[in-house]
Parts: sequence; structure tokens; C-alpha cells
Amino acid sequence: MEKIGIYPGTFDPITNGHLDIIERGYELFDHFYIAIAQNMNKKTLFTIEERIEMIKSVTNHLPNVEVVMCLDELIVDFAYRMRAKTILRGLRAVTDFEYEFQMATTNKRLKPDIETVFLMTRAENMFLSSSMIKEVARFGGDVSSFVSPIVKKALETKYNKNN
Ligand code: ADP
Repeated sequence: MEKIGIYPGTFDPITNGHLDIIERGYELFDHFYIAIAQNMNKKTLFTIEERIEMIKSVTNHLPNVEVVMCLDELIVDFAYRMRAKTILRGLRAVTDFEYEFQMATTNKRLKPDIETVFLMTRAENMFLSSSMIKEVARFGGDVSSFVSPIVKKALETKYNKNN
């Protein structure tokens, strides 16, 4: 049976930390969805369309990856609909744990057939987050080692426009 995985996130914007999880997760599935999900607690800098474009361009070397939107729907319901048995998430420092644990246990209750699987971040990406990168970019710092050139450019454009 085809193994279908789904990696949901806000990706505002996609970082090298996300990309590392995607490249490693890619090896585990026959078909791999990256799902841009709505997070009601986060106001995003980039529109959904902009985030999709950035993810598509940094993953175009991975043929079985498909970027999709999950709007107005629970991730588990979306995963079920897409016949994905596995939700993939990345884990950074201990601070991620509580939130991820809550979400994984809730999702398990809602849809017991779907497993959440975690990949540990690489040490060098441990403290990498989209919000930290936005903070650095906003004040003109160099984000080249944290994001792809295309994302760096998008950040520069966004912040120059906003100034
Ligand atoms: P969300 O709003 O769903 O947390 P994010 O885009 O912030 O969306 O993150 C999506 C997933 O990627 C989460 O599981 C998060 O823990 C993981 N992630 C984010 N940054 C990194 C990183 N530097 N290394 C590994 N995993 C990461």
C-alpha cells in the first residue's frame, strides 16, 4: 500500500529547519504532502499564496512532494481525506514538546488510525524558527544561513515595502 505522509505547518516563511525535516521525511513516504495550515494564534507576514510559492520553489528537487492548503478543516480530517496515515512534525528544543504532545494526543483521540511521527531537528537548526528569522530580517540582519536565497529575497522585499 502506498505510504502517504503529511507535514502541516504555518511556514511563515519556510526555513532551513523545515526543509531539513521535509528532506528527511521525504525518504519515509511514497507521497508526501506539505500542508499550509491555518494557525489561529499566528498572524502571518506572508499570504498563503506567497508561502505556497516559496515552499514549491525550495522543494522542486523532490518529485513526490505536493504543497496543499488546509483551510477551515482540522489537520486530522484533512489527512484522513487525503488517505495519509502519518502526520509528520519536527521537534526542536524542549519548548516544542508540550505543544506538540498536546496536539498529537488530541489528534490521536480524534482519529486513532492516524499516527503523528516526530523527527528531531539537527543540532544546527535547534534554535531556528520562522519568528526569529523575521525578527532578524526586519532589522536588516543577514538571514542567508537560515533560509533559501529565494526566501531571503522575499523577506527583504516584504520589509522594504513595509518601511
Ligand atoms: P506551526 O504553526 O504548526 O507550529 P511551523 O511552521 O512553526 O508551524 O512549524 C511546522 C513544524 O515544523 C512544527 O512541527 C515545528 O516544530 C517544526 N519546525 C519548525 N522549525 C523547525 C526547526 N528549526 N527544526 C525542526 N523542526 C522545526
